[in-house]
Amino acid sequence: MNKSFEILINLILVTFLLFAGFSLGEVREPTRLSVSSEPNKNPTQSQLNNTTVKYAVVITIDGLRPDAISKSNSPNINSFMKQGSYTFEACTVIPPRTLPAHTSLVTGLDTKKHKQKLNFWNPSMIYVDKETIFSIAKKQGLKTAMFVGKNKLEYLAKPGSIDHFESTGEAADSIEKIGSHFSAYVKSAKPQLTLIHFPEPDLTGHKRGWMSRDYIKAFEKVDRAIGVIIESLREAGIYPETIIIITSDHGGEGKTHEGSDPQVMTIPWIAFGKVVKKDYKIKEEVYIYDTASTVLSALGINIPMELDGKPAKEIFINQKRFTGKE
Ligand SMILES: [Zn+2]
Repeated sequence: MNKSFEILINLILVTFLLFAGFSLGEVREPTRLSVSSEPNKNPTQSQLNNTTVKYAVVITIDGLRPDAISKSNSPNINSFMKQGSYTFEACTVIPPRTLPAHTSLVTGLDTKKHKQKLNFWNPSMIYVDKETIFSIAKKQGLKTAMFVGKNKLEYLAKPGSIDHFESTGEAADSIEKIGSHFSAYVKSAKPQLTLIHFPEPDLTGHKRGWMSRDYIKAFEKVDRAIGVIIESLREAGIYPETIIIITSDHGGEGKTHEGSDPQVMTIPWIAFGKVVKKDYKIKEEVYIYDTASTVLSALGINIPMELDGKPAKEIFINQKRFTGKE
């Protein structure tokens, strides 16, 4: 081959590789929401620091009715309410069942749009076919994880969207396992977006009845495990940069959660972290699918237009990103 031709080819190759490298670097950089009222001015780092966090943990307590909180010994949940913003009047979706409700939580869509109304799943079936908070976060280069207590929730972990998935599969000691497995994982891996699901007190509700003594005791066990989870965020050194949202997928009455009674539809919704107002009772309506938009918003990721859910704006100390004003 002609020597100068060879040099030219090498030059073109090097230029191409450099360009590809830069493009990859740009893809991994999270898209930040504009927090400036002047569209041409980029937000400063300190503005972003006050309005966004680097990590998000969503914890779902399966079948938790809000009125169980005041009827139980749950020091952790009670202290998180004081440290954050909360409502006992949030609303789940119809049908108020585990898989449709969790699908709404991670897609930001009502059941009418995501169309998952079944409450069972196995690996021979298709994964969720909508964008989730995990698939959106992955596109921004974030590390994602799921720790769940029911195998069917793997439906939400579509391939390529979750870096670490664990299910305890309704084991008798699933509450403790979920707490300890997450704690061990977070210290080394520091995932930026995690969903943690506790299968209780739903399982006990189906056996002994909602609000029964055993149901309340099962919830108290979950409260202790959440204490372990929050402590592990501190030990991992990421707690100051984390937003935590604790909610449920549905309530229940008797030994079921059918129909659309308030005891079934109403769920607690609690958020805390440095960007969230403290000891604040949320006045606006919160739906389970608002969780997705709230998480994306707190992480500084643009919210897709087509979502049914909106960020729970009221909880944020700094409203500037929504209103353009401090
Ligand atoms: Zn459930």
